[in-house]
Amino acid sequence: MLNFEDGSTLHGSIVIGADGVHSRVRTLLHHDPDARFTGHVAYRGMVSVDDLEPNLVEPKFNLWAGPSAHVVAYYVRRGELLNYVALTEEAGWKTESWTTRADKSDLAAQFQDWNPTVQTIIDHTQEGQCYKWALLMREPLSTWSSARTTLLGDAAHPMVPYLAQGSVMAIEDAWVLAHYLAAHPTTPDFALKAYEEARIERTGKIQIAAWEQGQLNHAVGRGGDISERGDGGGFSKSSWIYGYDVCALYPD
Ligand SMILES: Cc1cc2nc3c(=O)[nH]c(=O)nc-3n(C[C@H](O)[C@H](O)[C@H](O)COP(=O)(O)OP(=O)(O)OC[C@H]3O[C@@H](n4cnc5c(N)ncnc54)[C@H](O)[C@@H]3O)c2cc1C
Repeated sequence: MLNFEDGSTLHGSIVIGADGVHSRVRTLLHHDPDARFTGHVAYRGMVSVDDLEPNLVEPKFNLWAGPSAHVVAYYVRRGELLNYVALTEEAGWKTESWTTRADKSDLAAQFQDWNPTVQTIIDHTQEGQCYKWALLMREPLSTWSSARTTLLGDAAHPMVPYLAQGSVMAIEDAWVLAHYLAAHPTTPDFALKAYEEARIERTGKIQIAAWEQGQLNHAVGRGGDISERGDGGGFSKSSWIYGYDVCALYPD
């Protein structure tokens, strides 16, 4: 039985803590410290392609890397908008929010000597349309589940977004959990343990790899296009991440 702050209660056979990076379920299960600020900050904006010169960037995942920062940009909404995220290191700023507006001129100043395409994208962001938030992490856990309670998504394995895998891992988790619950309907505690065993190593490795990708992005270059680097920016080594077919491995 679950008891909520508002006094309500709920009965169920299992509890899945899919309650994000500050997971209360995780804290109750593991008593580990809450998420910590990584010192990294994400600025996110979208620019209408009507405000940009045609084909300013290629229709792919574009990444510019430089000292202590990197920028990614790609088209969304059938190519009508260019979405970008600029990632910087700012030790003093810790507000976590999807709606905190950033000062565009601050962002432009941080990237003033970068690739001109980066500056163009920032310059064409409409006032008030650039948002900023702190990136948080928790350390990988050695176990997730306890009897009939488990974790899923950021509650289990929050990560920096440098491999674009946080939501992907949550979706994979959900698929694998559904697979085991369907296979073991009368023994949910067994299903939760099998789910954890299937997921914990992969997600822990990706948490670490995502952080390392940030270190790689921020360590070298001078604000240039990372695809021009000889090592492909490190992404070429990542088929174990992007080539993983969860549906084939855990058929429904
Ligand atoms: C800048 C940035 C860029 C990103 N880019 C990507 C990307 O390109 N690709 C990718 O795959 N991932 C990306 N991510 C990561 C992705 O956003 C997260 O990994 C994903 O949202 C995690 O999903 P979740 O459902 O586990 O947690 P959340 O999305 O945090 O959802 C948890 C939910 O639980 C609710 N909740 C929490 N506590 C309680 C409570 N006590 N009672 C009731 N409800 C509660 C919250 O309100 C929330 O709705 C990015 C993240 C950031 C910050």
